[in-house]
Amino acid sequence: MHVAVIIAAGGKGTRLGASRPKQLIEIDGQPILQRAVAIFTSHPEVSEVVVVLPADLAAAPPAYLTNTPPVGPRGDHASVTIVAGGAERQDSVANGFDAVRDRADVVVVHDAARPFASADLVSRTIAAAVRTGAALAALPSSDTVKLAAAGRDLDAGPRVERTIPRERIYLAQTPQAFRTGVLRDAIAAGRRGMAVTDEAALAEYVGHPVELVPGEVTNIKITTAADLRAARALAGGGRTESRMRIGTGYDLHRVIDGRPLVLGGVTIATDRGLDGHSDADVLSHAVTDAILGAVAGGDIGRHFPDTDPEWKGASSLAMLRHAVGIARERGYRVSNVDAVVIAERPKLAPHVDAIRERLAAELGVDAGRVGLKGKTNEGIGEIGRGEAMAVHAVAMLIEDSSEEP
Ligand code: MG
Repeated sequence: MHVAVIIAAGGKGTRLGASRPKQLIEIDGQPILQRAVAIFTSHPEVSEVVVVLPADLAAAPPAYLTNTPPVGPRGDHASVTIVAGGAERQDSVANGFDAVRDRADVVVVHDAARPFASADLVSRTIAAAVRTGAALAALPSSDTVKLAAAGRDLDAGPRVERTIPRERIYLAQTPQAFRTGVLRDAIAAGRRGMAVTDEAALAEYVGHPVELVPGEVTNIKITTAADLRAARALAGGGRTESRMRIGTGYDLHRVIDGRPLVLGGVTIATDRGLDGHSDADVLSHAVTDAILGAVAGGDIGRHFPDTDPEWKGASSLAMLRHAVGIARERGYRVSNVDAVVIAERPKLAPHVDAIRERLAAELGVDAGRVGLKGKTNEGIGEIGRGEAMAVHAVAMLIEDSSEEP
């Protein structure tokens, strides 16, 4: 059996608001289009793939479409042909159909914006088309479905006309597959002016039975920025490390008489505090360095030199806030922070919650995302003798995708 596939990638993807066609946007390092094409070039039942692109892209197609595709499981590979699309989706599919070789028994139509269709779904859709003549992947509705009344009051939302039994509701996806003659009839109907959003509707319109094949929840269509975020999460299989950055920070200050002790912006009543310019807040300094480190943004000495009048005498919390701002400019927000304060005295425990709250407010997170532990140095070394206080901190930052794409 000769199976041809038409990939509809002729759209401009303006709904995504991106500056380039949405099919070229990368998901986990691979363009959406490349992912969609690979579903079929690597599928053992597929012999040829026709990719329909916008005219400008068809004239200068991406290299991954023109290079010889990888050899498939049967030791051969599907050929790839590129054609220019038309004004509407159905015109593009018609152009693609014209390029399909005459010996095709079954023609599959797939949307380039659905890069996660499984090989199994493709096989099941092809098998159903052979059986019935036409078939499409479709998802049973899990939500209750309301039919809205025609027309609407301008001052209110649409009104429900009635509730439709959801057992009979399926949401159309692609792939859609057809015996070649059935698709030929359907496309002819489209050329006579029947306007639809998918080819299965044309087949239905000309009177061919169309079989519903259980679709896949993961076979999403990438249309909005929210879809793109979901697609990136899917492509990672829940793996998110590419969107996370971790940083470490360390600081140490001398303990001297007659100075206030400020930790994380909280002043602790004691007769011995930390030496250093400004408030010598050793904890805020370590956390600031951890945040700067996570975005490879240099260190506290570079951003806040003691010689700079802007920062001379500034609160260390202001520096921390500035570091959070630097991370935000680079597209990251704080996910969580953890720190260890190493000091012989005073006891940290009574102050831990107040400090966590204070730091959390500057970091823009809940206090539940700020860890803080006190530890002594068991009387050993400078810290053990009470001459110094040190802090180790780590910060996890996450890519802030609220502005995507
Ligand atoms: Mg310091």
